[in-house]
Amino acid sequence: KLFNELQQTKGNIRVFCRCRPLSRREVAAGCTMVVDFDAAKDGELGVLTGGSLKKTFKFDHVYTPKDDQVDVFADASPMATSILDGYNVCIFAYGQTGTGKTFTMEGTEENRGVNYRTLEELFRIANERSETFTYNISVSVLEVYNEQIRDLLATSSGTKKLEIKQVPEGSHHIPGIVEANVENIREVWNVLQAGSSARSVGSNNVNEHSSRSHCMLCITVKAKNLIDGECTKSKLWLVDLAGSERLAKTDVQGERLKEAQNINKSLSALGDVISALANKSSHIPYRNSKLTHLLQDSLGGDSKTLMFLQISPSDQDVSETMSSLNFATRAR
Ligand code: ADP
Ligand code: MG
Repeated sequence: KLFNELQQTKGNIRVFCRCRPLSRREVAAGCTMVVDFDAAKDGELGVLTGGSLKKTFKFDHVYTPKDDQVDVFADASPMATSILDGYNVCIFAYGQTGTGKTFTMEGTEENRGVNYRTLEELFRIANERSETFTYNISVSVLEVYNEQIRDLLATSSGTKKLEIKQVPEGSHHIPGIVEANVENIREVWNVLQAGSSARSVGSNNVNEHSSRSHCMLCITVKAKNLIDGECTKSKLWLVDLAGSERLAKTDVQGERLKEAQNINKSLSALGDVISALANKSSHIPYRNSKLTHLLQDSLGGDSKTLMFLQISPSDQDVSETMSSLNFATRAR
């Protein structure tokens, strides 16, 4: 009974926590694991916060360092059906830099992540339904850096400033953004690669840059029911967020300070939106950042949201881990 009530009050937000393994470098440096997975099957996870003090957290699911990309996708795959059924969906990864956000979302060529697998599933189901529906699927790839939206598929090296416009039926649009039509997963892969390489243009350190910007894929699905002629349009956002870590005070000057403030602002705006949704608040503050404004159609209402909370198991990261875990508790 209690469990049912909890499910209901949480609405359409699911939070999955994924902990990566200790890296080889961490093992060599003598780092120890402070996260325990004794009750991971029940969605619980414990963190040794110092001495023998253990704090526990509960999620919709906990992935241990042993769980692979297939295990993780098992819980995200029903979203593909939801999108084709006309729901808006948002899947994002939150966490400190180095905890596996990009690994979960993008993955690697051998270990593909949620982005690729979701689209693959989307096409698989669309093909299955091809006698009753026609689908038109397009992909946009963008980046939000310092509260500015950059189109990673734009051919003219994008100095054009992109803005968000509200369109009559209450949804949002970014005039001028490239929407690449895709017919199959092969074409999706090419588009994702193009977006990825555009990301590195103009930054001297790709990894650093990507940890300070939000990388966002927007998939638009237009469906037409061939029997009754009904048309629907739905949107899927797949977001690899900027790193949630606080920069050391000594690092924070000039351009870095501005970056840090903008990341801070957008991640707290996201936290505020999620917590307002979880509390069924009458005002949801979408307009406080570009990130939440962009995601507005896919957060709240009858849309479905999945958050992957990425954490490190290392004793060296325990304070950032606690701050991420506390961020996620706002969603419950
Ligand atoms: P982030 O995007 O959060 O900064 P990355 O996805 O780049 O983190 O991950 C950092 C490193 O850890 C990468 O080398 C990645 O391959 C590795 N890694 C992350 N998660 C896992 C995992 N679950 N299993 C194995 N390796 C992982
Ligand atoms: Mg990353």
